[in-house]
Amino acid sequence: MVWHKSRVPETRIVQVADDELKDAVTDACALLRAGEVVALPTETVYGLAADALNPTAVAKIFAAKERPSFDPLIVHIASRGDLKSVAIVPDDIADAVNKLTNAFWPGPLTLILPKHPDVPDLVTSGLATVAVRQSAHPVFRAVNKELGRPIAAPSANRFGRISPTSASAVMKELGDRIPLIVDGGACSEGVESTIISIEPRDGKKPIFRLHRAGPVTKEQLQEFGKVEKVREVQLDAPMAPGQLASHYAPLTPLILLENIADFTPEEGKKYGLLSYTGDDDSPYVTLHEWDAIESLSPGSGKLAEAAIRLFFVMRELDEAGLDAIIAEPVSETGLGVAIMDRLRRAAVRP
Ligand code: AMP
Ligand code: MG
Repeated sequence: MVWHKSRVPETRIVQVADDELKDAVTDACALLRAGEVVALPTETVYGLAADALNPTAVAKIFAAKERPSFDPLIVHIASRGDLKSVAIVPDDIADAVNKLTNAFWPGPLTLILPKHPDVPDLVTSGLATVAVRQSAHPVFRAVNKELGRPIAAPSANRFGRISPTSASAVMKELGDRIPLIVDGGACSEGVESTIISIEPRDGKKPIFRLHRAGPVTKEQLQEFGKVEKVREVQLDAPMAPGQLASHYAPLTPLILLENIADFTPEEGKKYGLLSYTGDDDSPYVTLHEWDAIESLSPGSGKLAEAAIRLFFVMRELDEAGLDAIIAEPVSETGLGVAIMDRLRRAAVRP
């Protein structure tokens, strides 16, 4: 679908301090009820929200993002009780769904479940399954509850670009394409939700297929089931950008430098470093006279901080007028799995 610039005269940003939450929620719900799209903060990244049961409204998400219609959306519900309005939970995984939602909802875990017939095909790209989560962000929750309907909300960026973790980043991505951005400050997780589907096993804990690594880690999920990768050939699997090799990409080429010996700078080119800690004596910092250095976790080297800052730092370097961004890898444990996943997808192919 092609987006037409003339559709929206101006994008409004409303700030949300505690005392203004009610007004922002009222504004957002009025637009959502009128079948419009609104950018809302979630704990992962900013989402572009629409009434999930209104296909005309959902179509506006695809148009504003220039997102291909084969890429299904995540549906957000206000309470666990609302799950039955968007999904049909099979008996053989009901116990697992209960345990997972008890442990991780509201929060950054998305479950892929058989879809309820009320969910439009446009939301699920025609799949028989729907991806569902309950956001923990107070603004998103309040809008979801007040609206009284499920909300479809992918990240509020143009297709294939870096996910926004602040209202100003949404403005850069979608400004003048959408009527309202609710500014709830910086996102507390910073990377998109973990996505799993569930396969029952007789007399054993279920298998969780990891469709996308995210803030809820493999280690955390293992308490409830066996975590495995999505099978290579899965009949029901969409070719979804969350799974496409190139995604979350800056416009400046990003090179993930797993081995510092592989760095061969070209004369006269400007290079920026996406460092983990930014320590003066780290081998990546001392490798080259960088034109810019941004650190994921300045000084402390904490993966949680690195995840929160990842997309922000990518944007900063993307706007620094560099010829290439050189990224230092992080350790692939816990949240590091999601960070490395995003860095690999942002990176140019060798
Ligand atoms: P986002 O753009 O962050 O909202 O992520 C949406 C992603 O969720 C898609 O790109 C898919 O990877 C995944 N997804 C959504 N619905 C399904 C589904 N029914 N089956 C498999 N993956 C899904
Ligand atoms: Mg996205």
